[in-house]
Amino acid sequence: MNKHMRIRYKITLAVGVAITTVLVAMAMFYTHFQEQSVLQQNERTMQKLTESVAQGLQAVMLAGSADIAESYADRLKGVSDVIDFRILRKNGNEAFRDNETIENVNRRRGEESFAPRDTETEVPVLAGDDPHLQATIQSGKAVPVYDRDANGNRTLTFLAPIKAIESCSRCHGSGEAVRGVIKLTTSLAPVERDILELRQYSLGGLAIGLMATMLLTGYMLGRIVVTPLEKVMAAMGRVSGGDLDHQVPIDSRDELGRMANSFNRMTSELKTSYDGLRREQDKLTTIIHGAGEGIVVTDGSGKVVLVNPAAERLLEKSASQIIGEGFEHLIDDPDSMRTWLAQEAHEGPATATYKGRTFHVYASTILATDAHVVGSAALLRDITEEKRLEEELRRLSTTDGLTSLYNRRHLDETLNTEYHRAMRTHNPLAVVMFDIDHFKKFNDTYGHDQGDRVLQAVARNFRDALRKYDLACRYGGEEFVGILPNTTLEGAYCVAERLRADIEDSEVDGLKVTISLGVAAFPEIVVESADELVEAADRALYQSKENGRNRTTRAEPLPSPVAT
Ligand code: GH3
Ligand code: MG
Ligand code: MG
Repeated sequence: MNKHMRIRYKITLAVGVAITTVLVAMAMFYTHFQEQSVLQQNERTMQKLTESVAQGLQAVMLAGSADIAESYADRLKGVSDVIDFRILRKNGNEAFRDNETIENVNRRRGEESFAPRDTETEVPVLAGDDPHLQATIQSGKAVPVYDRDANGNRTLTFLAPIKAIESCSRCHGSGEAVRGVIKLTTSLAPVERDILELRQYSLGGLAIGLMATMLLTGYMLGRIVVTPLEKVMAAMGRVSGGDLDHQVPIDSRDELGRMANSFNRMTSELKTSYDGLRREQDKLTTIIHGAGEGIVVTDGSGKVVLVNPAAERLLEKSASQIIGEGFEHLIDDPDSMRTWLAQEAHEGPATATYKGRTFHVYASTILATDAHVVGSAALLRDITEEKRLEEELRRLSTTDGLTSLYNRRHLDETLNTEYHRAMRTHNPLAVVMFDIDHFKKFNDTYGHDQGDRVLQAVARNFRDALRKYDLACRYGGEEFVGILPNTTLEGAYCVAERLRADIEDSEVDGLKVTISLGVAAFPEIVVESADELVEAADRALYQSKENGRNRTTRAEPLPSPVAT
């Protein structure tokens, strides 16, 4: 059956085939039965005809008019549809053709009751042992024989016995039950015509009946099954097209009605879930639109489907531009974007700089439960200000507020690093330490604020005296330390002396200070830690103070622990 065929036609066709089979079987049975009854009726008519002919013949014979019997037989042949009529002797030859019977009768009666024929002929019609003939003689009953003539047309031959009765024995003697046989052959053409007509009527009736049944079945099926089913299907079509408000009309309380009812319940369940989802989605959309973070989302094919206002503001691009350029070009760095998308979420955000802003980018591929990609999402957090504050904090934590030089903490960290680098690379490393002379007295004389301004001026001189890679630190109070990588003891001494002279020559608000310095350097001074290098410089500084201040002293090698 064609798969695209509509159910209306499928059902009608199926029912039609079933009904046709039953009706054809019924029609065949009926026609066959009718044919049989026509044939039987014909047989009965024939039997009656032959019987009446036999009786008529007997009456004629008894009246002594055997010649009338002969002409009676000849006349019968002229009746339409009678093909042949003969009166036979029991041996199958036609009677009334020779003088055998006439002679026997005359002999039996002892007088010439019947004149002999002038011409005698022997006309054998049936063989003496013809089974039908024998059956007729022996049974004493009429036997019908169906046959075909030379032209192939069906014929019915009736062999009827001519019974001997008491009155016959006067001429023909007694002792035999059957005197002869009447053979009446008729054409079955009229009967066959009747049968053909019957068939035609049956076929016509069958066709009309079939057509009426099919039309009725189609109409009934349409009303009872197909139309309600089509209504349900049309409703399903509308629902699957997104119209969840549509309900299937319930016209009946049968299976179709229950199906429509179930479908309506399912639709309203779906609608409830859908409305819930919509509300959640609206909530989510509100959150996304109001979020301070830039959010960009794609669908499974990679097409951008959502850009929130924050994303437009942060990226300084309109939503349509972002959609047009595509997800990978969000910050004009497709390679990085691809890398981030391939990363696991727990690897944390990537940091990117775009149009002067620094972002944390949380990019991820969204997978469904069956692991197929349903989209990608990027969340952009502007961390420019955060970064700046962080930098500021770092600067504040490593620098001294008054002088803007590095503080003691940063000095310790850097010194350690530089010391280990020097040990590793065998490059020299020098430390310069100095302290302002009689600063307590200066403060006492000019005030603490004036002291602070001097401290700031000294710090500036100190920073200017050093190279780019050197590190100037405020060690504490009015004490300063410089780290000079790649500088020998002699080199450091020169720097220190130049600084001492600079400060001696310069003045702040017309006031002057001097400083005392100590320098130490690896590898000239053998030390085992960075602290020991500072200690050595401190001792040298102390030496400068001891020796009259405003001078620089080179550190002495530490006393060897073995020597002591
Ligand atoms: P010396 O030549 O032996 O170093 O004499 P001194 O007076 O400088 O002695 P010392 O180093 O012990 O004195 C440190 C003084 O430095 C004490 C304090 O008044 C002053 N001082 C420390 N820190 C500051 C500061 O931040 N601002 C000001 N104005 N003075 C400070
Ligand atoms: Mg001091
Ligand atoms: Mg001092």
